Amino acid sequence: MRIGIYPGSFDPITLGHLDVIKRSSRLVDLLIIGVLNNSGKHPLFTAEERVEMIKEVTRNIENIQVESFRGLLAEFARIKKAAVIVRGLRAITDFEYELQMAQINHKIESEVDTIFFTTSVEYSYLSSSVVKEVAFHKGDISSFVPIELVERIEAKYE
Ligand code: ADP
Repeated sequence: MRIGIYPGSFDPITLGHLDVIKRSSRLVDLLIIGVLNNSGKHPLFTAEERVEMIKEVTRNIENIQVESFRGLLAEFARIKKAAVIVRGLRAITDFEYELQMAQINHKIESEVDTIFFTTSVEYSYLSSSVVKEVAFHKGDISSFVPIELVERIEAKYE
């Protein structure tokens, strides 16, 4: 069984993330979406809320599992017996950091490799930070996130 892990903050999940989830889930038997529970990051949504939101919008994809994790990604991948880590690349600015992380993770856990999905062009500008910025200023986020999450995100800023 080929297991992949797609790790991230997903604070909140965007249509760009969902696009990567749909495309990468076709290449593995099981895709574990790993929600980073890093208390240092001061996220808008708790890890539990982020897991719940991702479960809601991926409920129609069969081979998905969503869970939160703390600590080293390479360690999480080893425990889950994952062969690949999935990451997304939007622009050259993502590249340097992603390359370093992929190399560190491979160094720590040689059984795991990172594969990259280039963003679909329509989502190349999209990040969780953009969504939060627009929602904070009461802008329309309906083309950035799954429609069923719009009200929930807006409510955080009321
Ligand atoms: P992190 O804090 O680990 O970067 P994010 O939740 O911001 O977590 O992103 C998780 C992964 O999804 C990263 O690899 C990021 O590059 C990728 N990603 C984010 N937005 C997009 C997008 N619009 N298109 C493709 N990949 C994306």
